[in-house]
Amino acid sequence: MIKAKKSLGQNFLIDKNILEKITNTTDIQDKIILEIGPGTGNLTSNILKKKPKKMYVIEKDNKLVIELENKFTNQISIINDDVLKIDETNLFNNKVKVFGNLPYNISTEILNKWIINLKDNFWFECLVLMFQKEVADRIIAKFNTSKYGRLSILCNWKLNVKKICDINPNSFYPKPKVDSSLLFFYPKKNFIKINNPYNLEKVTRVFFNQRRKMLKKPFNQLFNGDKRILDKLKIDLNLRPQNLSLDTYYRLAYEYENLRC
Ligand code: SAM
Repeated sequence: MIKAKKSLGQNFLIDKNILEKITNTTDIQDKIILEIGPGTGNLTSNILKKKPKKMYVIEKDNKLVIELENKFTNQISIINDDVLKIDETNLFNNKVKVFGNLPYNISTEILNKWIINLKDNFWFECLVLMFQKEVADRIIAKFNTSKYGRLSILCNWKLNVKKICDINPNSFYPKPKVDSSLLFFYPKKNFIKINNPYNLEKVTRVFFNQRRKMLKKPFNQLFNGDKRILDKLKIDLNLRPQNLSLDTYYRLAYEYENLRC
């Protein structure tokens, strides 16, 4: 058996029911599929059984790439690279469906990169991604809850997100120390236009810098106490960062961007 590399977040899925559940999340037949981190190819095999039109995989581990080439000759196109260094926006002629039991050490970095670089013509149809449960909980957290924060706000800006299921450590080899969750993301038809996503990052960074403090300080830092914006967005400065809805943050980022034009 392959020796798993901790540094590459290698926990291979071995539970047939979960593999089936992942591939039943969305239609695969005749679709173009991209898998991130195929590892030993367990999920890859299950996806191929559902007859995609074409399948690409991105795998960083050179040793696993040799295994994959032997196992799937001509059935998949292998990109032997670091997913964080690839610009997927120009890689495919058609929209792809993305699957990934992501390496947990860089899962939020991968998702952040995709969202920040997302143009209005999305390069993917949907994302079916596995995260550490604690991270998934933050992605889907609602406002007024303790897990709500920067990640929830960024991930829900252009994408709808649904939890499919939780997965326990016994479904993997080697067993991770934490539970996992499978999330399904698909593009929103309407979202607030923010030309430079770094403005949304900046606003959420400043607001959540002190998440237990009231909104007055971060608001004054970014908007110089502009009462017109407070009235327009109906913001009460005695509230705390977690009490503002997703939409309020997108509108704040929009206002912030306009102030700087
Ligand atoms: N998909 C397989 C499965 O479910 O059994 C393996 C999933 S394992 C959690 C994560 C995979 O991502 C590993 O194969 C690892 O080598 C690969 N990986 C880690 N970092 C990567 C990176 N920066 N770019 C591409 N692949 C990476």
